[in-house]
Amino acid sequence: MRDPLSDYREKRDFRATPEPAPQPVRARDSRVFVIHRHEARNLHYDLRLEHEGVLRSWAVPKGFSYDPADKRLAVRTEDHPIEYEHFHGRIPKGQYGAGTMTIWDRGHYELVKIPDWEEAIERGEIKLQLYGRRLRGEWHLVRTTQSKNSWLLFKSRDLYSGPSRDSALGIELEQAAAAPLPKDLVPMQCGATRSVFTDPNWLFEMEFAGLRCFAEKAGPRAFFRGVDSAPTALREALALLRCEQAVLDGVLVALDDQARPDREVLARALAAGDGARITYYAFDLLQWEDYDLRGLSLFDRKAALRTLVPESARLFYADHIAGSGPALLAAIAEAGFPGAIGKRGASTYQNGASPDWQRIPIGGHADVHEPAVAPQTARTAPLRVKATNLAKVYWPAEGHTKGDLLAYYQSISEVMLPYLRDRPVHLNRFPDGIDGKSFYQREAKDGTPDWVRTVPIEHDGAPVPHYVIDDLEMLLHAINLGSIDLHPWLSRVGSLDSPDWAVLDLDPKAAPFADVLRIARAAGRLLRGIGLRPLLKTSGKSGLHVFVPLQPGYSYDHARMFTEAVARVLVRELPDIATVERLPDQRDGKVYLDFLQNRRSQTIVPPYSVRPVRGASVSTPLQWDELEDSELSPRQFTIHTVPERTRQVGDLFRKALDDRQDLLPAIAALEEVLRGK
Ligand code: MN
Repeated sequence: MRDPLSDYREKRDFRATPEPAPQPVRARDSRVFVIHRHEARNLHYDLRLEHEGVLRSWAVPKGFSYDPADKRLAVRTEDHPIEYEHFHGRIPKGQYGAGTMTIWDRGHYELVKIPDWEEAIERGEIKLQLYGRRLRGEWHLVRTTQSKNSWLLFKSRDLYSGPSRDSALGIELEQAAAAPLPKDLVPMQCGATRSVFTDPNWLFEMEFAGLRCFAEKAGPRAFFRGVDSAPTALREALALLRCEQAVLDGVLVALDDQARPDREVLARALAAGDGARITYYAFDLLQWEDYDLRGLSLFDRKAALRTLVPESARLFYADHIAGSGPALLAAIAEAGFPGAIGKRGASTYQNGASPDWQRIPIGGHADVHEPAVAPQTARTAPLRVKATNLAKVYWPAEGHTKGDLLAYYQSISEVMLPYLRDRPVHLNRFPDGIDGKSFYQREAKDGTPDWVRTVPIEHDGAPVPHYVIDDLEMLLHAINLGSIDLHPWLSRVGSLDSPDWAVLDLDPKAAPFADVLRIARAAGRLLRGIGLRPLLKTSGKSGLHVFVPLQPGYSYDHARMFTEAVARVLVRELPDIATVERLPDQRDGKVYLDFLQNRRSQTIVPPYSVRPVRGASVSTPLQWDELEDSELSPRQFTIHTVPERTRQVGDLFRKALDDRQDLLPAIAALEEVLRGK
């Protein structure tokens, strides 16, 4: 009989690779799947399915998407031994598949539609039900006519399918217990009442006058705990959550004739079985599938909840405003809400009253009107920015005007705003264009319209209001003030001491761009070699920025010490062209590797920001292999070319928001590198 692992064995030298040498194959009665993220010469994902004691494997270069329209190439590769299920590590240079292998997802699967493996392979049609942390629901593998190893992988339409994303929830589940919720779950309650406050570590939700209850989806059953008379249409909406099992916390709400939430109207509607008026506002997610999420932070639970709730006329995700109680009160004061609830963003979900929740009543609000959908109406309201001086020429050589700049930001706003949201931002204003006077501004001055979001941040012992750009209106407001580029912090309101990114700035000043390219390639190799997945963009001027998205909890000190070590390794590798010398006139025409931006209150231009330089160039995300193009010039990316490029290649920087990485193993690996040479 043919040994299914002969290919696997022949390709590897088990004295040199840490990969497992196969034991004799023994079929088990299980169906495990594992997905490795394989940072080899080209990044790809290896999907492996257990069958007859081995792992049948496919390499998927572009990864996974929950959008059924995204059909991804999957190349069948050699069967791997079952021991590979738990393998992760670094395959050394020169060995087959050299690079870093990490476990990206793991779980079990079932074959559906064609339950017999041999028949499914024969027909070139494998339909899978996956039960992982990231991948769930039904997926198809279909062989193409091109060659016997070429398959397409795509999501079937089901509960989980939807907008393109590569994870069911978009958050890390490492801290979540794989256990059901206890039966005696008690709703979390406010531990105190206080007057309105502002605190960047807190978020603020509206308080709904209604009936608090848990909403539960368990397979085909969907119900509201303790409310037997919940209307059918509402239970049907709950059944459409993008998962099989969930427990939500929220409030049943009914509106009176003036569209105000009203408890008595709700009680009557429930008693009469009148479902038309009743809606549910979900503000927390306690369980997802087999995971108890109560130990995760509120920020993460809400991000996951937002992903699960589909568009619906009856079931809503209750949004919040981070950092500012007054901003929320201003938005809801007219809308018939009794008050706001302040919640600590890092808090876990606890039984009963907790100081992490604080009730903030609205004083003297007897007369209220307007419907109970304040956040939605706020978003669809006409823009409150009155753009001025649109014809003013900002770039004299090219003739670009302030109007051109506003039009660019409007066109790119949807892609760009996620990199600005919830971050304090400093402005650098050029009211007369790039050749005129400019001034740097961190403080939101008197006269700032009251709809503009600001957060107070201690500076020299006094609170200084900082702008926060969350939406198109605020973005255009900042540009209309004369900003050309924007300068957000590396951390967000709610976790200001914990940066989301470690950043290395390759700043050439007078050095040739070819040197920047060489250093960036070396930086990419180094970071990937220690297990990280760095991102790259142009600075918009003459340099490049390397970003590593960080898991929550790292401090600026961590990020700075790490990037400094990376910079020093690079200088040792390329001493003729790279330096960490701070004094510009001592850099000898070398590229400056700047790691000092990794500090609280320092800023970095975000992707898609225009820069105040000739040519109106734009900070533009790049793929790493674009560095191989010797013609590459940061000047080719401008307010005229970037919108079209972004439509074509998509947002290459999106992983900066959702691929948050663990620095500790990378630091250990970097220390090895430092000691090694
Ligand atoms: Mn591979």
